[in-house]
Amino acid sequence: MKILIVEDNRHLVQDMQEFLQENGFLIEKAGFLEEARQKINLYKYDLIILDLGLPDGNGLELIPEIKRNDPSAGIIILTAKDTVSEKVKGLEMGADDYITKPFHKAELNARINSTLRRGKFDGNSALEYGHIKINTSARQVLVNNTPLNLTKIEYDLLLYFMYNKNRMLTKESIVEHLWGDRIDESDSFNFIYNHIKNLRKKIQKLAPVNYIHSMYGIGYKFSDKEQD
Ligand code: CA
Repeated sequence: MKILIVEDNRHLVQDMQEFLQENGFLIEKAGFLEEARQKINLYKYDLIILDLGLPDGNGLELIPEIKRNDPSAGIIILTAKDTVSEKVKGLEMGADDYITKPFHKAELNARINSTLRRGKFDGNSALEYGHIKINTSARQVLVNNTPLNLTKIEYDLLLYFMYNKNRMLTKESIVEHLWGDRIDESDSFNFIYNHIKNLRKKIQKLAPVNYIHSMYGIGYKFSDKEQD
């Protein structure tokens, strides 16, 4: 996911950049309206965070150009407290959301994720974590924005992992979730091992990090962080 931050306050930009990179986003920056305009015309972004008060003009000017170049790009405007009319204007021009300075990073993250969800899946039920997105109504999986073809079992496994990210999952709980008590456990453990191996391989082809971590003797943990 690539985000362009258009903001002239360098401290704020650096803060946002560090935080968003930790959350797995690729960040580009522009401190001037003209600089942002050039980037928008040359590159594609999933989302643009747009400050309105820029040294060489009003960020609102960019909204029509963003929409013309890439209608699917999300736009979140950054505003000061006292600029209600500009917020409204920005939303009317096609911005997806706004955030008022000063803001908490968690709020920024939440708004980014909800904007990206809306943009890519037209408001359908979607799950998102790291580089992985699942449109649960269409049973469609994207890894790094590339469609991933999964078998039914792999899809069900991935969904279960996504709902239980960063949690230790025993082999028993995975088997039980997928098959209930219909299958003899000793057989199903080998069976599940192969499916998980395949799923991991498919995701790793498209994502820069491993998501499915084997926890020796216990089970698995789905996480974008390295496990000790
Ligand atoms: Ca500013």
